[in-house]
Amino acid sequence: MRRLLVVLLAGLLMPWVMGAQSAAPKLVAPGVWFLEGDAHAGYCNSIVIEMERYLVLVDPSYPGRTKELMAEIPALSKKPVKWVFDTHAHGDHSYGNALWTQAGATTLAAAGVRKEMDLYEPTRWQSAISKREDVRATDARDVERPKVVFRGSKFVLRDKTREVDFLYLGWGHTRGDGYVWLPKEKILCTGDAAVNGPRNKMWDADVANWPRVLDKAAALGPNVVLPGHGDMGGVEIVTGQAQFLRDLYAAVKAQMDLPVSDVKVSLPERDANWVRPDMSQHIGIMYAEIKAGKPAGALPHTWQ
Ligand SMILES: [Zn+2]
Repeated sequence: MRRLLVVLLAGLLMPWVMGAQSAAPKLVAPGVWFLEGDAHAGYCNSIVIEMERYLVLVDPSYPGRTKELMAEIPALSKKPVKWVFDTHAHGDHSYGNALWTQAGATTLAAAGVRKEMDLYEPTRWQSAISKREDVRATDARDVERPKVVFRGSKFVLRDKTREVDFLYLGWGHTRGDGYVWLPKEKILCTGDAAVNGPRNKMWDADVANWPRVLDKAAALGPNVVLPGHGDMGGVEIVTGQAQFLRDLYAAVKAQMDLPVSDVKVSLPERDANWVRPDMSQHIGIMYAEIKAGKPAGALPHTWQ
């Protein structure tokens, strides 16, 4: 009896003992859950979509988060995870790939994700090994590339319960940004092309084109937007993200006669959700893009 009690208590306490602070899954629509990852652990948000016979997971995040998801998802649905979609190549979204392949799922992404991984990996993976126990613990030396990539603008999964569209709308936050669109439910998963809060990463971006891509996403008419980081919301996450990028770009462009270190921006109140206390990195990336006349992500750069 005492032993049973210890086992039960250990089970209850384990998530806290392990340090996992990811939020409880939120039901967004029947069979669609938003799983907010623990930002302090560097995790992104994930989404689970239930189909007739299987589940789709959007963004496996880091290996540590994938392990949490593997424990949490069976409580949502007993169906197997068949497809795992990387919204882009960054480690906080894709480094759990290999664990899902081992579990029998098929990883999927827009073709640009594999291209970015081939460009930037395994350098970034090696850097993550030095910083993160969960990546180190995999014993792998490189991120596993998505097993299936789609070219063009759309890859569709459809059964009698629903349709899931995986969309590529252009080079914005990265070359491979994939959006997940549920046309019937009007739910849009944006990955980090649109985040809710000051969480943008611009190293790999085409900053000038990014808001134009977001315009296409907003034009789908989503009622619910599930971002890669931060809380879920409505289309204002997408339109606000686009406006912030436009305002910042215009502010930097107006000061190109100054050295980059002298460029200062004061953005309108509408951009407050995306403004960081220190904007120098964003400014530097935009300045470099405008000066070179080509996407920041196409210029020589390292992960910072
Ligand atoms: Zn991210």
